[in-house]
Amino acid sequence: MIEGKSRFVILISLLLLLGFSLTGITTYLVAKNVLHEHISSEILPLTSDNIYSEIQRDILTTVVAVSSFMAQDTFVRNWIIDGEQDLQEITQYLKSIQERYNTETAFLVSDSTHDYYHSSGLLKQVTQDDPLDSWYFLVEGLSDDFEINVDIDSATPNQTTFFVNHKINDYQGRYLGAIGVGLSTKVIAEMIENYQSRYDRQVYFVDVDGKVVLHGKQYRGADDIFSAVGLSEIASDAINSNSDSYSYDKNGTKVFVNARFINELNWYLLVEQMDQTDSKIKNTFLINVFIALIVAILISVLAQLTIGGYQVRLESMASEDKLTGVNNRHAFDALSQQVMKVADRRGEALSGVLMDLDHFKTVNDRFGHLIGDQVIARAARSLKNNIRGSDLICRWGGEEFIILLPGSDAEETRLWAEKVRRIIDEDIVFFGEKAMSVTASFGVSRYIVKETRDTFFDRVDTALYQAKDKGRNRVEVA
Ligand code: GH3
Ligand code: MG
Ligand code: MG
Repeated sequence: MIEGKSRFVILISLLLLLGFSLTGITTYLVAKNVLHEHISSEILPLTSDNIYSEIQRDILTTVVAVSSFMAQDTFVRNWIIDGEQDLQEITQYLKSIQERYNTETAFLVSDSTHDYYHSSGLLKQVTQDDPLDSWYFLVEGLSDDFEINVDIDSATPNQTTFFVNHKINDYQGRYLGAIGVGLSTKVIAEMIENYQSRYDRQVYFVDVDGKVVLHGKQYRGADDIFSAVGLSEIASDAINSNSDSYSYDKNGTKVFVNARFINELNWYLLVEQMDQTDSKIKNTFLINVFIALIVAILISVLAQLTIGGYQVRLESMASEDKLTGVNNRHAFDALSQQVMKVADRRGEALSGVLMDLDHFKTVNDRFGHLIGDQVIARAARSLKNNIRGSDLICRWGGEEFIILLPGSDAEETRLWAEKVRRIIDEDIVFFGEKAMSVTASFGVSRYIVKETRDTFFDRVDTALYQAKDKGRNRVEVA
């Protein structure tokens, strides 16, 4: 029974753990998917949007507006039309623009002289042969009033600058040259850094060939997205779309990337994010498992207790005493009422015997409880061997038994009890080398028609008390 119970509790615990684990794993997988979807379709595009609008607002709009203002300026146009007389004047003008708008450079190229003016003076003449000057010869043919061009600055050749090259026309609309400002790409790089540290994402730009053209200081990727581990697999997709999200595997970690084409720069803005969902969800997952474990343990303990409680009740509901195999009190309660009713109805004799082993505490003390139990069982057997089928026997308490004998009067019962007393007395048991015998005292009384069970048993009990009182190992009749 105990074994079965433990097995049941273990089964419950295992089922609970299995259930909790499955729920946990499912939740984990679903949460992971949702998070991935969220990163791909919302977080990265949003970051990209933000960066793009910052570039627009802080950089493009300002420098385009400044360049356009310069191209419309009457001073500039008159100065060219009047034959580019005073170098000081235009140098001063370019310098003040550069200082006011905090740009990297401010320049003017005259179409009639091909002179390149800069805030520091006349820099050079643009020529068709110099590849660095090729940009100038495209400006006149632009369909727009301006273009944005990322290039090496002739004034500071070691860094990339992005220029707004704006057409200047005279009052009749004839082409006079190009004017504009240049911003160091450092400004964008700083913005990238800012974004990277704010959002813990990698932000960089690649050109239409996939070459990485601009990145922050902490950039850890390749120079070319076609030669980057993992990224190369989605590189051609990324630079063939206007804006889309992808993911690739980099040394076992999933990386999400959003690519967006920035028209004004002719570059792609790439925003990358490593998959950190695992570490985030894993904590929650572990907490869940921990809670599940505690709940499982609690439920198991509860089940153990509940089942234990039922077991005790079931045992008491069973009719048989485990040790001796005779009726227990629960069964006897019902059976004895029955026997008394039958005696009432038929007017037949009924007697009761209460038997108690003598000095049993000493038996326990000398031989121990286990042997004590065996002695009780052996005495019970002596009783059972000598009763009739109609007699009723019950283990009343520890080493006390009650026997009802229908059809026997007090004297017949006394004789019967005397017989059993002698049998027990003469029964010598050997435990190893120790010989032992117990004696028992008996109380006998006859049932009086219609009396209550309590008064009947009280008399039997009193008789037993007398037997004990008179020296034990004897039968007394009340
Ligand atoms: P007395 O002659 O007056 O009956 O003395 P006694 O020592 O037998 O005293 P009493 O009947 O009051 O006490 C019974 C003792 O039997 C007390 C208890 O330690 C022991 N006992 C009760 N039930 C069991 C049992 O199921 N197994 C064992 N081994 N001992 C029991
Ligand atoms: Mg007793
Ligand atoms: Mg006793």
